[in-house]
Amino acid sequence: MTATTALDIEKIRLQFPVLHQQVNGKPLIYFDNAATNQKPKQVIDAVVNYYQGYNANIHRGIHTLAEKATKAFETTRHSMQKFVNAKHVEEIIFTRGVTESINLVASTYGRTFLKESDEVIVSGLEHHSNIVPWQMVCEEKKAKLKVIPITEVGEIDMSAYRKLLNAKTKIVAINHASNSLGTINPIKEIIKLAHEVGAVVLIDGAQAAAHLEIDVQDFDCDFYCISSHKMYGPTGAGILYGKKNLLEKMPPYMGGGEMIKDVTFEKTTYNDLPYKFEAGTPNIADVIALNEAVNFINTISKEQIAEYESELLTYATEKLSAIPAVKLIGTAKEKVAVQSFIIEGIHPFDIGQMLDARGIAVRTGHHCTQPLMDRLGVEGTVRASFSVYNTKAEIDELAEGVKRIVNFLKP
Ligand code: PMP
Repeated sequence: MTATTALDIEKIRLQFPVLHQQVNGKPLIYFDNAATNQKPKQVIDAVVNYYQGYNANIHRGIHTLAEKATKAFETTRHSMQKFVNAKHVEEIIFTRGVTESINLVASTYGRTFLKESDEVIVSGLEHHSNIVPWQMVCEEKKAKLKVIPITEVGEIDMSAYRKLLNAKTKIVAINHASNSLGTINPIKEIIKLAHEVGAVVLIDGAQAAAHLEIDVQDFDCDFYCISSHKMYGPTGAGILYGKKNLLEKMPPYMGGGEMIKDVTFEKTTYNDLPYKFEAGTPNIADVIALNEAVNFINTISKEQIAEYESELLTYATEKLSAIPAVKLIGTAKEKVAVQSFIIEGIHPFDIGQMLDARGIAVRTGHHCTQPLMDRLGVEGTVRASFSVYNTKAEIDELAEGVKRIVNFLKP
């Protein structure tokens, strides 16, 4: 049975209120899922229910509402533990998302363990969030940032990676899947090779969480970062998974309430994991709602989602590449459902604006991957990224829109 017959996409679409609207007089076609995907009603309801029914601060309260909120918040920690298959629940730290998770590791692990002339490796495919925090800590510690080159199709050059690794390599930070090109990286191999030289590995899972199976024990990664809003959950929430023995060795990220055991003016002792890294009142409502995003994904199953999205990607790739003026950017063998393209002589912003006039939402520009754009010799791209609620009919509309733009604007 193919994914198309197995999944009732119309039924899935009905769970997403935002999809059922007109934009510029046309039915909305939302192809900006790599930036943030849409939220099913059960996620939205969870936020509303918390504020309407049991808004209270968590952990320290003993009254009924506080206990209910704490229980719901900690339920998400357990479901995220399962979601990434972490060994211990205290290995799940709540953050605002991938950016904060990477900054946390760079500022605590990086600052503590990097020394002068140590090396940190990132790839040429990285989002600015997985470049700049490392640049900052490398500058401070006089360490070196090394970059794995990528190939023309947008894959990591593994032989170049092997050559970069040495005894000075202390951290390797790499994405599971690229937001600009969709490339799925061979992270198991990358992690294994890094461990052979004694480096720790952080995986940026922003583009993987909604699409790929995540098993941090199988990957054997040291850190794994997720943003809730890219996996059908609310913005402003996410996790850092970290191996317990490493998290225990790391100093806290921020000081304040919750992350302490005892405070005197002379000395403060820090709380146990995971609270050591969760200073202050967290984003309670959105963490609670993240649990519903996990339920949404699990009800369909990652396998079915991936299979259907891959069908959409193949279809979109065929349709777009059949338009002579279109040049696809990023054609790696293994990809999540992201397709970037350019049209020679037409600026991506113009394409984006004209597609918006037809109700089609795509992203244009450098996608927070300026070094990657430089490497590919383009200023930016138009990026269509697909989710489980998208359809082939919508892709037909995209292809039609692109054709019309080409005919209208091509000199
Ligand atoms: N890494 C990748 C690969 C991303 O796609 C993004 C978001 N575009 C980020 C990191 C940053 O995630 P967030 O903005 O949720 O912190």
